[in-house]
Amino acid sequence: MNAIHKIKVAELGSGGGFGGGGRGPSRVMDIMYNLTDRYGPRLTNSPQFRAAGQWAAGQLKEWGLSNVQLEKWSSDMPGWECTYFAGSMVEPTYQALIGVPVAWTGGTNGVVTGEAIVAQIQTPADMDKFHGKLKGKIVLTSPALELPFPTTPLAHRYTEAELAELVPEIIPTGAGGRGGRGGRGVLAAGQPQMTVEERQAFQSRLRTYMKDEGVLLTLTATARGDSGTLFGGGAQTSTRNPNGTATRVPLETLESSPPQVSLTAEHYNRIARLLEHNVPVKLQFDIKTQFDANTDSFNVIAEIPGAAKKDELVMVGGHFDSWHYGTGATDNGAGSAVSMEVMRILKSLNLKMDRTVRMALWSGEEQGLLGSRAYVKEHFADPAVMKTTAEHGRLSGYFNIDNGTGRIRGVYLQGNEMMRPIFEAWFAALKDMTEGVVTIRNTGGTDHQSFDAVGLPGFQFIQDPMDYETRSHHSNMDVYDRIQQADLEQMAVIEAAFVYNAATRPDKLPRKELPAPQPAGGRGGY
Ligand SMILES: [Zn+2]
Repeated sequence: MNAIHKIKVAELGSGGGFGGGGRGPSRVMDIMYNLTDRYGPRLTNSPQFRAAGQWAAGQLKEWGLSNVQLEKWSSDMPGWECTYFAGSMVEPTYQALIGVPVAWTGGTNGVVTGEAIVAQIQTPADMDKFHGKLKGKIVLTSPALELPFPTTPLAHRYTEAELAELVPEIIPTGAGGRGGRGGRGVLAAGQPQMTVEERQAFQSRLRTYMKDEGVLLTLTATARGDSGTLFGGGAQTSTRNPNGTATRVPLETLESSPPQVSLTAEHYNRIARLLEHNVPVKLQFDIKTQFDANTDSFNVIAEIPGAAKKDELVMVGGHFDSWHYGTGATDNGAGSAVSMEVMRILKSLNLKMDRTVRMALWSGEEQGLLGSRAYVKEHFADPAVMKTTAEHGRLSGYFNIDNGTGRIRGVYLQGNEMMRPIFEAWFAALKDMTEGVVTIRNTGGTDHQSFDAVGLPGFQFIQDPMDYETRSHHSNMDVYDRIQQADLEQMAVIEAAFVYNAATRPDKLPRKELPAPQPAGGRGGY
């Protein structure tokens, strides 16, 4: 309890209360500034991602952490950045457009002006229908979107009733559990149901089709991306084969693909409605993107060596990479900054911990938990064969943060009932900072799954939703200002306490049984 109190004071100061506007000892907002405003966004393998990694490694070394490294893994993603964007409607009247090019798409090769056309292409038959009609055109990939009147607050914290609802076991329905994030990317509404492979194959064909048809660029929007906000994903950098392997899309193919631009919904809808009324619309774009053939990626690693059981490990982290639409603040600068802050506090307090604490900040999460999967495969076990390493036997557990800026309200057990009394006891010591709701449920969508997939205890906290789904998650408004300082400070204290407890308790954390091998990689949702 004394150590937990020291952790609180190290983060919050002794003056009481958190969120003191930067006056306390916390460094978490300084870390956040560097990860976002200064070095962000951190699209995997982009120049900004690499610079942010260098900064993080330098900072971790400055704090005296051990074994700091950018641990390489081989990805299939080239570097990419957008170095210039201008987009406007020029006829029937001028309007500046709010838009951002989709990751890993090409540029316009100078200023281009073209007529807009709606061409919703969802099937091979649609391709035939528009064949020869798209040359020199700027294609809207769906008709005008229905924008519902917002009747609920953009941001909210869990009420006590909502937290209570998270506790009971879910009777399986075959649908994804809470935390699954459907509808990723920029697929138009009403897209026909396809398997991942079918959709990838169709998308690849569509890219070639758009290029072959002489399309200047394509525009997308989502109903969620309204009021100046826009959401987006990235062009595929590899195509998944039915046998589970992946084929990298050649760099030249990516570079020469027509740019895709995600627009905010109201601007998109104005263009679409003018076209519906048979008013010709001319749009003008100038887009520059740059590729880098280097597909090597890295996870950021740092350690605090343990004492009596220094060969045993407790891990903490979250994904370091982001999308490029904003600066990657809530997704997942928050989890990265908190992880770094946890390491800083524990190191500065010089607390005696038996086990080694290792932080890992992952890359490639947004493209399918790729960095953490590569790490787990390298260090612990390949889920395809489930043959474990010696290090697999020495890892106690992994704690992950990747649900935005909202403070910790509890934890998901991932079906590990043996963890319930342990987490309840840990939360009891933090009663003044969180309810500490413990639910048996799984949550998906992030890197603790890579550990869970090979039978290692990996956990993600329950966090307040805030405006993650409505405003910041994968949007152009995922920026520093969406971060709530007091929430990050609360997270840092709780996660540091959890890590400390895991590193000092007599036994490693209890594990579920080792799962059966999952041939073909077993890629889950993310
Ligand atoms: Zn994330």
